Order: sequence, then structure tokens, then C-alpha cells
Amino acid sequence: MPLAAKVVAVLLAAVAAAPAFAQERKAELLWLGQAAFRLTTPTGKVILIDPWLTTNPKTPAKWKNLDELGKVDLILVTHGHGDHVGDAPALAKKHGAKLWAPAGLNQTFLALGILPADLVPRMNKSGTIRPFGEQGVKITMTRAEHSSEFVWKDAAGKDHVHVGGEPVGFLIELENGLKIWHMGDTGLFGDMKLVGDYYKPDVVLIPIGGHFVMDPKDAAFAVNHWIKPKHAVPMHYGTIPVLKGTPEEFIQALGGTATKVHAIQPGDRLEF
Ligand SMILES: [Zn+2]
Repeated sequence: MPLAAKVVAVLLAAVAAAPAFAQERKAELLWLGQAAFRLTTPTGKVILIDPWLTTNPKTPAKWKNLDELGKVDLILVTHGHGDHVGDAPALAKKHGAKLWAPAGLNQTFLALGILPADLVPRMNKSGTIRPFGEQGVKITMTRAEHSSEFVWKDAAGKDHVHVGGEPVGFLIELENGLKIWHMGDTGLFGDMKLVGDYYKPDVVLIPIGGHFVMDPKDAAFAVNHWIKPKHAVPMHYGTIPVLKGTPEEFIQALGGTATKVHAIQPGDRLEF
């Protein structure tokens, strides 16, 4: 066989050996405002992240009807603040879907009777789960630099502040090998470089609003110098007045970069 034909034969064999879904099906990422995403994996598993929907001013009206989400297989919550916990407990109960969050937050959900034990499994930073079996999606909890108190209203409407664990991000590796890092709420910290070097995320969902999280300049520094992902999706901005950062400022701060920025609107979808 001539060399060119041999190369073609080897390539064809490699393509044939790859799982069918890796070539045909992509992941769909739907942004619902603030840090809320619905991720549909290449094999059709539906993962909600920080689903604050019904009282989120940026969530399109259609998605405030929780039935519109369709089936839900798994829920991830990055920390105890209301704009991230949001509708997560209600959705976990509705779908019988496990809710993974910082261990201390899940302990509080259990102790307060917000969720039953089978829906609040415990894990912690650097821990990895394979919630759909050994060949499926792999999710690793990462560090985030933030806080995580959980405020709960009692029957009389009085606020009580409870332990919410430590804030985290989630590194989600899909069935096709694509790695998406939902960074959670976070300020700038040096170990973003460690995550970039060690886990090599392809896509980052990155907070840019400032005040409670990184501003556009911070986020651009982390992307350009430490994480170097192929794609960046800005989040956690514009929801309340202090979250002033904009995608335009983020793009400007990035300057010439190999990272593609997807400045989408709540309700928009991306495919990877
Ligand atoms: Zn927060």
C-alpha cells in the first residue's frame, strides 16, 4: 500500500474505533442568567448548575416555568448564596435528582429538612464523581475564592444564617472528552493556574461582574495567563447594579487571544 493510502487507512480505523456519539452528537449549553446553566451531554444526560430561575430577573419568562426544563438527571450547586441555590432543592425533589454541592451545604439542607438524605450526597474539593456510571460524565469539585453562608427563612419569615460549606467550582468532563469548568463565584486566585495546567479545561464559564467576583480585567488575566481555554462564556454580570462588568470590557481586556469568547444572552444556547 502506498504511504498516503496507509495513512488514510489508519485514520479511518481510528475514526471507526471512536464511540459513535463522539462524532455525531454535541453537548448543548443553555444559559439562564447569572450562574444558571442547563447542560445536556452528548448522550442526553441533563445537568443543571446553580439553577436560580423563578426569581432571577435575567431568566427569560419561559424558563421561570420549571416544567420547561424537561427531565433533569443531576443538579450541581457551587455555594450557599440564594442566587445559586435558587430553585435547586425544589428541582431535586421534583425530579428525584441528586444535588451535589459543598459537603457543608448539603449537611445543612439535610439538617433543616430541606432535602432527604438520598438527594444530598457528600463530596469535597478534588473529589471526583461519575454519576452515570464508569464510562460516563466525570465531575470534579474545584476550589473557588468566595464565601458560602446559607440564609434560611423559618416559618415566621425570620432569616437564619447557616453553614454552607466552602464555595466551589465544578470541572465537568463529558463523554466526548470535552471539559467544561463552571468556576462558581470566585475572586482571582493563583491556583486557577493549577486548574489550567492540571485539568486543562476546554470551556470556562467565568464570572466577570466584579464586586462579589472577578471583574472583566481579573477574568481576562486568569484566561490569558493561567487557564488558556479554547472557549470562555462570561457569566454573573448585569443581574444587580453592583455586578457592573460587561462582556465588551472582558473582550477588550483579553486583547489578542486564542480564546473564543461567547457573549450570549440568557436563553441562548451553545453547542460544543
Ligand atoms: Zn455568591
